[in-house]
Amino acid sequence: MKIKNHLLSGDNVNKMRESPNQSGEFVKGNLDTIILHYTAGNASASINTLLNPKSLSSAHLVVDRDGSITQLVPFNKIAWHAGQSSYNGRTGYNNYSVGIEIVNAGPLTKSGNVYRSWYGEAFNPSEVIEAIHRNQSTPKFWHIYTPEQITAVTNLCTVLIEEYNMKYILGHEEIAPTRKTDPGPAFPLDKIRTQLLGGSSRVDDAEEDLPDSGRVNVNNLNIRALPNVKAELVAKPLTKGTKVKILSESNGWYNVKVEIEGWVAAKFIEYE
Ligand SMILES: [Zn+2]
Repeated sequence: MKIKNHLLSGDNVNKMRESPNQSGEFVKGNLDTIILHYTAGNASASINTLLNPKSLSSAHLVVDRDGSITQLVPFNKIAWHAGQSSYNGRTGYNNYSVGIEIVNAGPLTKSGNVYRSWYGEAFNPSEVIEAIHRNQSTPKFWHIYTPEQITAVTNLCTVLIEEYNMKYILGHEEIAPTRKTDPGPAFPLDKIRTQLLGGSSRVDDAEEDLPDSGRVNVNNLNIRALPNVKAELVAKPLTKGTKVKILSESNGWYNVKVEIEGWVAAKFIEYE
């Protein structure tokens, strides 16, 4: 799966069907969020709605039950999926986000042996979980997502983070908590964002910027057991010019391994 010219391509990607429901390019630097939704309808009905100019709604992507993906709006253009929304001091999330609609019926009502969606589709118990929504206090029945959808959404988020330096993955339920319950508790939202971003925001790259090695540039440098001036000394101070291998960093301290070169009598060296 890859993105070129703001269009997705790959094995599981259908031909694009462009929605008229869009409003020009993002302001430069604004796009940094992925918003996840459920369709509360099947794929063809949902895509038709998102293509209909009268619906005044759209999303960049729709992920079907089999994991196949249809793009409706190029990623550099604003789609209409968030509605009235606010989170973390921002409002109007359409201006900051790519919207992914995942085909799922949403909350279900039990009637006899089947579970029904608001639009009447029936599901058997193997397609249902009972769970408490993050914005609610009592358990309800929810349509499950397929493993193919979860894989597809994870892959989509990965390429979008790569291409657009996305910093947040949020549910519609988080940016419009009084109106919305999507993607709901059947979707592993917290797990995916922790996996991809290390929480709700992107992990920084500090660790990757660490130099491999260096040399001591003062006459005597104390070397301690912990990154703290009061911590015990582990060896004689390192002398100027000593080469150190840098292993990790913590609040201005480097954990180092000292590499000294010289000759020693062979009989005093033990093999591991
Ligand atoms: Zn939504």
